[in-house]
Amino acid sequence: MADMLRATRQELAGAFERVLAAGRLILDREVAAFEAEFAAYCGARHCVGVGSGLDALAIALRARGIGPGDEVIVPGHTFIASWLAVAQVGAVPIAADVRPDTCNLDPDSLAAAITPRTAAVMPVHLYGNPAPMDAINRLAARHGLFVLEDAAQAHGARYRGRRAGVLGNAAAFSFYPTKNLGALGDGGAIVTDDDALAERARQYRNYGASAKYIHDIAGTNSRLDELQAAFLRLRLPRLDAENARRRVLAAFYRERLAGLGDLRLPESEPEAEPVYHLFVVRSFARDALAAGLAQRGIGTMVHYPRPPHLQRAFAAASPRMPLPVTEALAGEVLSLPLWPAMTDDHIVRVAAAVREVLAGRPVSSRPDRARSAR
Ligand SMILES: *Cc1c(COP(=O)(O)O)cnc(C)c1O
Repeated sequence: MADMLRATRQELAGAFERVLAAGRLILDREVAAFEAEFAAYCGARHCVGVGSGLDALAIALRARGIGPGDEVIVPGHTFIASWLAVAQVGAVPIAADVRPDTCNLDPDSLAAAITPRTAAVMPVHLYGNPAPMDAINRLAARHGLFVLEDAAQAHGARYRGRRAGVLGNAAAFSFYPTKNLGALGDGGAIVTDDDALAERARQYRNYGASAKYIHDIAGTNSRLDELQAAFLRLRLPRLDAENARRRVLAAFYRERLAGLGDLRLPESEPEAEPVYHLFVVRSFARDALAAGLAQRGIGTMVHYPRPPHLQRAFAAASPRMPLPVTEALAGEVLSLPLWPAMTDDHIVRVAAAVREVLAGRPVSSRPDRARSAR
C-alpha cells in the first residue's frame, strides 16, 4: 500500500487540487464520473457510490425492499460485514456452509437453507475468488431470490468472462484502502443493471431525497466523497495491471509451494478468474506455520479466525444447520503476503521460508525463477 501511494503521490495531490478548485465536496462531478467509469469497467448499467462496503450491501438490500420478516442466506465463512448488512436492515442472516475446496458458498448447503421466508442470497467472492454463480443463480431463479454479490474483495474478478458486479442482480463493492481498488479512506459502491434498484439506492444514500428537500423514503447519509471518487478515478485505470501482478505472484506461490506436507493451496471454479485479494493457504499446523514465519520476520494474517455465528454479536442467531467446513477453516487458513508492489525477491524469500518451516530444513532461494515469471 505504501509503495502504491508513493508511486502516485504527485497524481493524488493533483486530484486533491482539482477537487479543491472545483469547490464541491459532496455528490458532484467526480462521483458522477467515477460511477460511470466503474459501471463501464464492470460492464453494468449503474454504479451508485456510497460510504462503505457495508453500507453498499445494506443499501442494496433495502433498495430491494428486504427487511424484517425476511431471511437472507449468507456463507458461514466470510467477513462479518456480510452478516451485519443483513442484520442492519432488520432481516435475519441464515448461514449456509462453504465448500472445502474453494471456501466459497456451497450450493447444496444453500439449497438446504432455503425456506418460504428466504428473500435473497448473498454469495461472497471471498479472497477475490468468484463464487459458483451458475449453481447459485439457478437456485435463486427457481425460488425467486434476489442475488446480491458481496464483491468487496473481487474488483475485476471474472466468471465466464463477466466481471464481478454483473454476476447476480446487484453487487456491493468496498473501497477500503487495502482492497484491490482502494480509496484513501472509506468508500463503497452498488453496481447493478436494475434501473429501479439503482434509483432507489441513489435516493436512499442521500436522506431518501428524490429532489432537494423532497423525501419519498426514510433514507440515510452514506455517500462517496468527491475527494475519494477523484482518488479512485486515478487508481481504476491501474486495477487490471495490479490484478495481473497479483496473479503472477499467486502463480509463483503455486509453483514453489505445491505438494508441501499437508499444505493446501487456494482452488477456484473452472469458470472463475480470481484476483487474489488474498492468497490463503491451509494447514492443520497453521499456528505453527504462522509462528515459524513470524520468527523469520514474515507477517501473515488469518482471514478469519472466528466465524460470525460464533461471535457474541450473533450469539442469538444460532445457525439452522451445522457448519463443519466453516468451523474447520477458521483453524486452518493462513493468508501469505501478497500485494501488487511485492517484489520478486520478497516473494522468493517468503516461499523459501514456508518450505523451510514446513520441511524443518533450509531451502535455498532462486530469485532468477521469479524474475522469469514476470
Ligand atoms: C471489506 C469487506 C466488507 C465491508 O467493506 P467496508 O468498506 O469495510 O465496510 C464486506 N464484505 C467483505 C467480504 C469484505 O471483505
